[in-house]
Amino acid sequence: MLRCDAAVDMLLDAHDGTLSSQGRQALKGHLSQCPSCTAFQRSYEHSITLTAQALAVKLPTQVSARIYTGMTQRFRRECAQSPRTDGGSRSC
Ligand SMILES: [Zn+2]
Repeated sequence: MLRCDAAVDMLLDAHDGTLSSQGRQALKGHLSQCPSCTAFQRSYEHSITLTAQALAVKLPTQVSARIYTGMTQRFRRECAQSPRTDGGSRSC
């Protein structure tokens, strides 16, 4: 299974439509089994939508990339600090 950090790295390309079909399949498979990354994806997409609506324009790629970078840093920080209940190894 795709690791969380790799899945999160693919979300920006998926959002921009530049992710390969193989990458989309891998991401889709990961998201179907990972609640943390699914929550992150929803939060990211929601943030992009709200920001675009607030500006009433399509966000420049640089702006969406900066939002993505800030959110991924937060995701990784929170993921690394959260305890695992299943005894597995952390993948973020
Ligand atoms: Zn994940």
